[in-house]
Amino acid sequence: MTDLARAFSGKHAVVAGGAGFLGSHLCDRLLSLGAKVTAVDNEITGDPRNLAGALKTGGISYVKADVSEALPAAGEKVHFVFNLASPASPLHYTRFAIETLRAGSIGTENLLRLATEQEAVFLQASTSEVYGDPEVHPQPESYWGRVNPVGPRSMYDEAKRYGEAVCVAYERSRGTRLRIARIFNTYGPRMQLDDGRVVPNFIGQALRGEPFTVYGEGKQTRSFCYVDDLVEGLLRLAASDAKGPVNLGSHFEFTILELAKTVHRLTGSRSTITYKPLPGDDPKQRRPDTAKAKQLLGWEAHTPLEEGLRRTIDSFRK
Ligand code: NAD
Ligand code: UDP
Repeated sequence: MTDLARAFSGKHAVVAGGAGFLGSHLCDRLLSLGAKVTAVDNEITGDPRNLAGALKTGGISYVKADVSEALPAAGEKVHFVFNLASPASPLHYTRFAIETLRAGSIGTENLLRLATEQEAVFLQASTSEVYGDPEVHPQPESYWGRVNPVGPRSMYDEAKRYGEAVCVAYERSRGTRLRIARIFNTYGPRMQLDDGRVVPNFIGQALRGEPFTVYGEGKQTRSFCYVDDLVEGLLRLAASDAKGPVNLGSHFEFTILELAKTVHRLTGSRSTITYKPLPGDDPKQRRPDTAKAKQLLGWEAHTPLEEGLRRTIDSFRK
């Protein structure tokens, strides 16, 4: 038995946001490790069809519910609560600004209460957006960030920053067994082609033969992590006793123009590039300092961008 199978086999995990991109992959992996899973989702940006394979195993229950409202009763003993419930793409959190703030605040607190009552491990899916448009590069967990509290990304960035604050308040005053993952840009199959994020945008544009929409000059950078690597990191973190936030993301950094060229090559597309204005407060440079994850979890992202993109392109073609 692997360490992860030992940690999760026979355990009951609640995955809030389980019908989403990351949440559904996490449910699949938990089931493969022998866990019982309850996925909770209000379907605001997710789709229960992402759980079609999981539902066939019989090991998962799916509950349609909004975590910002009262939570359904837990039923059986809960060992892990994963809080992934939040719109995540700039297009979605702009469209659902108030829902995003409510999920980060009320939703997070409702789930913290459940985890605390159940003495379950609570894993918060936080984000590199807590660093805002960073002045420190790469970003270590000790960096406090540079976030515009009234800017176009503030509903998401501040919801996630508040989310971390309410998490540590529960840890300090109620003894909640807290883990915080600061997730950096992650991509893979089951992203929605129209969620506005750069990977599905570029792949969709390449497959339709439309121009790539590069915002600004395309010199801004991101470090793209393949979903399977990220899920492995989330599980190792939940199974560990790591204190404080842990960055989870790829250490390979690319400009957006480099990403466009790679998608162009891998799809064999004839798409050209059209330049659009850079959205406000768009971070210029982003890469995680992953020393803490490496040291505490023995984890780092290993899937090369080309390999992850190939798998994502194949799934989008289907
Ligand atoms: P996603 O939109 O595919 O998944 C989020 C899921 O949460 C959706 O299924 C949505 O319907 C659900 N949800 C939202 N509000 C809810 C509510 N109030 N009650 C119940 N369900 C709700 O996005 P994703 O990329 O899978 O992101 C999952 C989590 O990981 C989010 O919390 C996001 O902030 C975080 N994260 C993701 C990335 C990334 O690159 N994918 C990076 C940093 C952080
Ligand atoms: N981006 C782009 N073209 C697109 C979508 C996004 O150039 O069609 C840029 C965007 O401005 C940002 C980067 O790609 O600099 C990553 O955007 P995404 O929305 O995927 O993630 P985030 O900005 O939240 O990191």
